[in-house]
Amino acid sequence: MICQICRQEKDPAELMPAELVRPSVQETIRKVHPEWSGEGYICLSDLNRFRIEHVEDVLETEKGELSALEEEVVSSMKEPEIISKNVNLEFDRKLTLGEQAADRIAEFGGSWGFIGIFAGVILVWIIINSIALAMRPFDPYPYILLNLVLSCLAAMQAPVIMMSQNRQEARDRLGAEHDYAVNLKAELEIRQLNAKLDQLLNHQWQRLLEIQRIQMELMEAHVRKDRSGIYQPNSEGGVV
Ligand SMILES: [Zn+2]
Repeated sequence: MICQICRQEKDPAELMPAELVRPSVQETIRKVHPEWSGEGYICLSDLNRFRIEHVEDVLETEKGELSALEEEVVSSMKEPEIISKNVNLEFDRKLTLGEQAADRIAEFGGSWGFIGIFAGVILVWIIINSIALAMRPFDPYPYILLNLVLSCLAAMQAPVIMMSQNRQEARDRLGAEHDYAVNLKAELEIRQLNAKLDQLLNHQWQRLLEIQRIQMELMEAHVRKDRSGIYQPNSEGGVV
């Protein structure tokens, strides 16, 4: 009988029927020997050589896949896809002069400094108009002009505070929208990552299993050879 690969006359004990060779190993053989048919025989030394070659092939593609994944991660890091940003900076840049003034006034109006200054002004006003009563006070008791000034101040302060509050609300809304976008993206990325990981694990697991099986077969073949001096076909009759 003749081995398909090396075309040499071999002892039947050293030959393996081609149809019993694992299909994935057959593919590796076909790459080097396109004329390979599933009907002839192959000698064990050639078969073992191709088994090892096949395992090396699988390991190589594995490595290639990993580096492709790394490339993807690196390129995704290069792309300016990050959504996260400081909303406050974004918002402050869009402010008009009036809005900025409203913010400042509302801030000052809500401080202890304002209350102190205000109390001081009222006190001075009353003192001036009371002590200078002998002369001609510009706002005699019960200080009607002071009342007018205070009413005007209150009337002006309310809209300014409302303006500032509206702005604060708009800022909060923008922040909430931004948070939503970031959360959504994170969720999608995590899902994608999960799917990728699952796929990778399944893929690798299958390959590892196959490599393991081929290694076991190689070892078995060696053990049998050592024990009997010649090869004996697999007693279970399975694909070798
Ligand atoms: Zn051969």
